[in-house]
Amino acid sequence: MLLSITYTGQNTPELGYLLYKNPNRPQVFELNHGKAYVFYPEVSNERTTAALLLDIDPLDLARGKSGQSRGLFDYVNDRPYVASSFMSTAISRVFGTAMTGRADSRQALSDSPLELAAGITMLPCRGERDKLNAIFEPLGYEVRYETFMADEQFPDWGDSDYVNLTISGKVRLRDLLKHLFVLLPVFDRQKHYWIGEAEVEKLLRMGEGWLQEHPERQFITRRYLNRRRTLVNMAFERLAANAAEENMPAAEPEVTPERKPRLNEQRLDAVMAALKNSGAKSVLDLGCGEGKLLDMLVKDGQFTRIAGADVSSHALGRASERLHLERAGEAKSERIQLFQGAITYKDARFSGYEAVSVVEVIEHLDIPRLAAFERVLFEFAKPRCVVLTTPNREYNVHYGIDNLRHGDHRFEWTRTEFQSWASETAERFGYTVQFSDIGESDESCGAPTQMGVFMLCNGGRSQCA
Ligand code: SAH
Repeated sequence: MLLSITYTGQNTPELGYLLYKNPNRPQVFELNHGKAYVFYPEVSNERTTAALLLDIDPLDLARGKSGQSRGLFDYVNDRPYVASSFMSTAISRVFGTAMTGRADSRQALSDSPLELAAGITMLPCRGERDKLNAIFEPLGYEVRYETFMADEQFPDWGDSDYVNLTISGKVRLRDLLKHLFVLLPVFDRQKHYWIGEAEVEKLLRMGEGWLQEHPERQFITRRYLNRRRTLVNMAFERLAANAAEENMPAAEPEVTPERKPRLNEQRLDAVMAALKNSGAKSVLDLGCGEGKLLDMLVKDGQFTRIAGADVSSHALGRASERLHLERAGEAKSERIQLFQGAITYKDARFSGYEAVSVVEVIEHLDIPRLAAFERVLFEFAKPRCVVLTTPNREYNVHYGIDNLRHGDHRFEWTRTEFQSWASETAERFGYTVQFSDIGESDESCGAPTQMGVFMLCNGGRSQCA
């Protein structure tokens, strides 16, 4: 199993700096089931190739299995020879720094698209060679592959299941490595690693910036996650949310500029007041976006433990900047935390806060997913207080629009719709709910934003009476 990366141009031995691997010094890395070797088969000013050779031990693999012997397959299998999930693991292990794009002495080069080609020998590709084009071409690569007869002595057996693939294009090295990391296992149905939630994280991290727009994203996601339905759905949902968040300007773009900041501020002020009023000391902001509310919470001494969660890593990055978390001291890092999560999946990290805010988020969910969200928040996380806001559709006439305010909103509710959803949900999970209007209100349409404050009944039954 061999991966080669060729850089053509000028001063191409600089590839060594980007990969953090010296062209003059072959290296060996120990992997769980074998070894990886890095060396440079060619180095010249115009053309330099780095190779990553995997030497997988099939016996070691068999030994690693807990009691589920597959007979002879344990000893005679294609694993040592094919490019597969092992190659991904090796790529991230050996070229991990290059994948981050950090290149201390050659940052400009690392940030530039370069003429690169990757050659992969023995990529398993059973009956789906057209997928090679469909998957690599949209990423800007030229795709070539070489096929073989399964056995030259038996032409009737037809072509082998494997190809030698070369993809070439003008890309940044880190992108090429990430593409290979995600896409090689897509072609290999036998993954050596356990596919769990961590794999969703990895897929989204490595796929950031390209997977969500890829025409084959569904195929890629399904295969990468070995068709595990819950995980695949989780990944789809997060990809969709990321795409929406990244492609959209700030919320409510249709609202006139002088009105927008005012409404945003009024909303955050109202949410802050409700949170303060609840007496909560710990608050989790679900769908925290860029962290405007978190910033206000941090500045208020009542709140000793604060967290923000969002499905979009992009948004979390901006929140982290706003809150200066990179440079925060220990005390602040303990007081405020950010993490990536989807509000429609049960998540232990959502528990343990006295109050949870969900500001302008539910309208981004598909209606059929609301039921999952209700359980995640009110049944599993179960905070004492929930402060939730959502647009009031009736007010849209003031904006001169009769459809939704934002391209990524899946619905906007009238006051009656919101109140009946909130009351039923509160009742079902043992909460009370009180409503208020946020923003300038008029008699016939109400206010632009509607808020529900839910209080948990148990332990404080009197609140429910
Ligand atoms: N609460 C913030 C941001 C609102 S915009 C504010 O009031 O300013 C909606 C946010 O919800 C976006 O940041 C989006 O990424 C996030 N979001 C959408 N769907 C989500 C989901 N399923 N789980 C978690 N966050 C989600």
